[in-house]
Amino acid sequence: MFKKILIANRGEIALRIIRACKEMGIRTVAAHSTADNDSLAVRMADQAVCIGPGEATKSYLKISSLISAAEVTNCDAVHPGYGFLSENAGFAEVCGECNITFIGPTPEAMRLMGNKSVARDTAVKASVPVVPGSDGPLEKDADAVRFASEIGYPVILKASAGGGGRGMRIVNEEADLLNALKVVQAEAGAAFGDKTIYMEKYVTNPRHVEVQIMGDKHGNAVHLFERDCSIQRRHQKLIEEAPSGALDQALRDRMTTAAISLVKHINYYSAGTIEFLLDENGKFYFMEMNTRVQVEHPVTEMITDVDIIKEQINIAAGHKLSFAQKDVTMYGHSIECRVNAEDPDTFLPSVGTIKELHLPGGPGVRIDTAVYQGYKIPQYYDSLIAKVVVHSPTRIDSIHRMRRALGEFHVDGIKTTVPLLLRIMGSEEFVSGKISTRFIEDFLKNNATPQ
Ligand code: ADP
Repeated sequence: MFKKILIANRGEIALRIIRACKEMGIRTVAAHSTADNDSLAVRMADQAVCIGPGEATKSYLKISSLISAAEVTNCDAVHPGYGFLSENAGFAEVCGECNITFIGPTPEAMRLMGNKSVARDTAVKASVPVVPGSDGPLEKDADAVRFASEIGYPVILKASAGGGGRGMRIVNEEADLLNALKVVQAEAGAAFGDKTIYMEKYVTNPRHVEVQIMGDKHGNAVHLFERDCSIQRRHQKLIEEAPSGALDQALRDRMTTAAISLVKHINYYSAGTIEFLLDENGKFYFMEMNTRVQVEHPVTEMITDVDIIKEQINIAAGHKLSFAQKDVTMYGHSIECRVNAEDPDTFLPSVGTIKELHLPGGPGVRIDTAVYQGYKIPQYYDSLIAKVVVHSPTRIDSIHRMRRALGEFHVDGIKTTVPLLLRIMGSEEFVSGKISTRFIEDFLKNNATPQ
């Protein structure tokens, strides 16, 4: 087993990893920027190394600084968390060259799945259904026009190198296609350094349902059921739940079987997520694979009792998965709300100092956060300040518990999305369970904040 792990991340996920390591008897080093000098990760890790200034490109994204930090502190492994370098095959490769184990899959698997259009082709080879669309990148305008009329409007243009909900555009009719193509190409070039675009049919009112998988280096692969992440704003998830209310056992079996066949096809190991769109007729399509731990992994941990981070560490150390598929059962229902430091009406980031803080507690409530009273939110990073996760026997019990927990969430000094989350949890629409990726758009239209 590893003796010391470098945490190449920050915020709540850095703490989550430190906690897992502590329970496993592994020492930790927090690699941090100057903006995070006062972070809980720095306080809770056994050691801390400053890797640069606040801007992520000069610290959390700087491979040479991270490797030096691991070397001077004698770390034998690096955990990348999510975001930052977690899906950077180059970083995984350099770690390998320096004899530091990257806690994640192989660089090859990351490359295969990191490019959306290559991932799509790989899914086809593994007999996993994909949304009808262009086979490979769109080379010429004429091809785009032809493909779109073949598959029918609306279509969605996607940057092959895109991610994080960026580099996508829906096109409703042919008249808009060529212009949209130019815009997405320019955006993709600027944001991802790669102008490659492909096209998919735009599935109307789908659910986003994803399957958590884990594989080891001995060829074993299991799934940990699904999560429903349909509650999104601008393609960014806000609320996630497990299991999905849209799946019966037969559909769940088909989706998890498809996910496992993709995992086996690419000999994948570590934790991963296969994202699907589920249409209104119960047909599902592969969208992409994330080759890292997800923000929403706690809902899966709640219903299965598997510690995904510990399992990732064990797998990276060469151990077999600590359980077989038949050992994994799911119990109850779990919901996660992402609390962002944002104005709940305008969604503009709210930076500042947390003057007062009281976090929810009590039965069935888990809070993953790295903020505290007196904490100053740095301007450089994403706006997530806490994940409120609940677990109860049924979905409606979980909704009641979430309302109770969010009601206890008290923060002063900054604005948060708690009021919006509470309104969603209190709404008929959410309770009914008839949700799709359009939910937030419709909800905000129909439920303007009372002035
Ligand atoms: P990212 O990697 O940026 O997260 P994804 O490919 O995972 O992008 O897509 C993000 C979201 O965009 C999905 O959860 C879904 O809501 C929407 N989306 C993507 N592709 C389609 C499609 N073909 N039809 C309808 N919605 C889509």
